[in-house]
Amino acid sequence: MVSFDDLRDRLTATGARLRAAVPLAELTTLRVGGPATVAECESTEALVATVRELDAAGIPVLLLAGGSNLLIGDDGFEGVVVRIATTGVELTGDAVLAEAGANWDAVVAATVEAGFGGLECLSGIPGSAGATPVQNVGAYGVEVANSLRRVRLLDRASGEIRWVEPGELGFGYRTSVLKHSDAAVVLAVEFGLRADGSSAPLGYRELANALGAPEGESRPAAEVRAAVLRLRADKGMVLDPDDHDTWSAGSFFTNPIVADENVAAVRAAIASHLGADVAVPTFPAAGGVKFSAGWLIERAGFAKGFPGDGSPARLSTKHTLALTNRGAATATDLVTLARTVRQGVAERFGITLEPEPVTVGVSL
Ligand SMILES: Cc1cc2nc3c(=O)[nH]c(=O)nc-3n(C[C@H](O)[C@H](O)[C@H](O)COP(=O)(O)OP(=O)(O)OC[C@H]3O[C@@H](n4cnc5c(N)ncnc54)[C@H](O)[C@@H]3O)c2cc1C
Repeated sequence: MVSFDDLRDRLTATGARLRAAVPLAELTTLRVGGPATVAECESTEALVATVRELDAAGIPVLLLAGGSNLLIGDDGFEGVVVRIATTGVELTGDAVLAEAGANWDAVVAATVEAGFGGLECLSGIPGSAGATPVQNVGAYGVEVANSLRRVRLLDRASGEIRWVEPGELGFGYRTSVLKHSDAAVVLAVEFGLRADGSSAPLGYRELANALGAPEGESRPAAEVRAAVLRLRADKGMVLDPDDHDTWSAGSFFTNPIVADENVAAVRAAIASHLGADVAVPTFPAAGGVKFSAGWLIERAGFAKGFPGDGSPARLSTKHTLALTNRGAATATDLVTLARTVRQGVAERFGITLEPEPVTVGVSL
């Protein structure tokens, strides 16, 4: 391991601010994670120079922006955490251009306030603009892939910087070629907007109902944003330091997509536990059927708040899909809870849930 002094010498010219032994719990929304050296980059130039320098020296890098989709182990990270703290946001015609570290909800708010639509369903999602393409962030029937125009990437193997079209990013449900990959750093993102200020067509029944609108129609973006923020707050899906239900990484498991050939077996397992006439929420998906992870967790016997008072890590009391830190949880506590839930669902229904956050130094 390179010493802190060596690192400081190496990174001085990059413009990054180096800090030793930072508890990563301070930088993640789950508020867990052991110590690491952190290089804070407040400009894109500093970010590029820092990552290039660390890569050239063969020093492991963990990119971290809002820390809202990361579960970092209690031993921290052996290497350098590059904290992306750029902030620039610019509205240009019918598009918005944001530096990677810009707060995502502030980007959405700026577009809505300026009279543009398109991003309102993605209101209230924590974290940075630059992380949104990483897992093709989505909510209420909309994904960033729907309106992303281009992404500015630093290719870490070649050191080159270039704008990339969405077609190159392999977007899928909560995934892209950027997730679980060290190949590139997102430096900036550009989204196309709806110049008439109308929302994207409402593709999610709960949201359409909240607005008293038929599915498929649009509404003024500002109205949709307000409704989304209300719905999300009721589920503990908007960060609030005073509410432990939001000390989470959002949904901890993705909704499982079961391949067509396995759907009958899963339905049979569900029927054998819950009765043949149980209504199972499912959604069409490429190559199979998407089941609701939250529904499966609850029906496997894990109620909101599981395992109950006194446990440092619990399911949110508002939403079974969020694993939460009640104040004193460690990463180990969260992993233990995640394993218990995952095993319970697998035993009852034959589906292995996959974590949505990126895990570092821990695995399920
Ligand atoms: C309360 C709550 C609600 C949430 N709701 C949703 C939701 O509705 N929909 C949804 O999709 N997600 C949701 N999330 C998850 C999370 O907010 C998103 O995934 C968000 O985009 C993560 O951004 P971040 O800046 O915090 O990323 P981080 O957690 O800092 O990083 C996540 C991953 O992306 C990588 N990364 C970060 N920035 C870059 C970059 N510039 N270039 C390359 N790689 C990068 C990191 O290395 C890491 O692997 C929620 C989380 C919370 C806590």
